[in-house]
Amino acid sequence: MKIESYPKNMLEALWKEDKKWFSNRVGQIPKCLRCGNPLDSQLLINPLSRHADIHVCHQCGTDEAFRDAGKVVLPFQCWYGIEDVRLKDLPESKNPTLTSDCAFPDIFHNKEKETCKIACSRSDYDGYRWWTTWNHCQKEATPRHLTQEIDQFQAALFCMKEFKTLDTMRRFCMLAEPTSSPMEFNLYSETSCLYIWLRMITQFQNYNLYVHYYRK
Ligand SMILES: [Zn+2]
Repeated sequence: MKIESYPKNMLEALWKEDKKWFSNRVGQIPKCLRCGNPLDSQLLINPLSRHADIHVCHQCGTDEAFRDAGKVVLPFQCWYGIEDVRLKDLPESKNPTLTSDCAFPDIFHNKEKETCKIACSRSDYDGYRWWTTWNHCQKEATPRHLTQEIDQFQAALFCMKEFKTLDTMRRFCMLAEPTSSPMEFNLYSETSCLYIWLRMITQFQNYNLYVHYYRK
């Protein structure tokens, strides 16, 4: 299993296409996927985005630096490329995605959600590595196909470069759903049988990541 970050994955797929122009120079020079201005014809003059493997225009590079300093990152949903008609033709990915929009609000905002919670993991980063403990939330044993799905998701999550360290997770939080606490952020995902809520806490020497698994 591989987990992708949505809609960053879509924009990166577009960039893969756009980048070809710099080697074949056929057709029009690609536009900056962040703002729509034309890119420079020299690939490396266009700075690499601080949040995706995409080269952006010089203005956007400067804007990202200012926004990073103020921790007010432009969400991917506001990038110019998100309206690109080519997105409709991209093959649909079968990988689960992390997104700041909850796709299961009926369950998430219902107090009863605890009844369908199967398990929850709690991880902290000690400066060197992640430590995880598990809490099983149902009395009866979890069916094997669900435990396998949970194990696969959890393993794939910690393979993401965004969850390499607490610092990389903090950067990722700038693109996650904010909460009433300035140190807490949410992301959501789903697999074939599970809804998943990630609660991220950026404070060092606290539990930094809770992953809640709910049966669909
Ligand atoms: Zn731009």
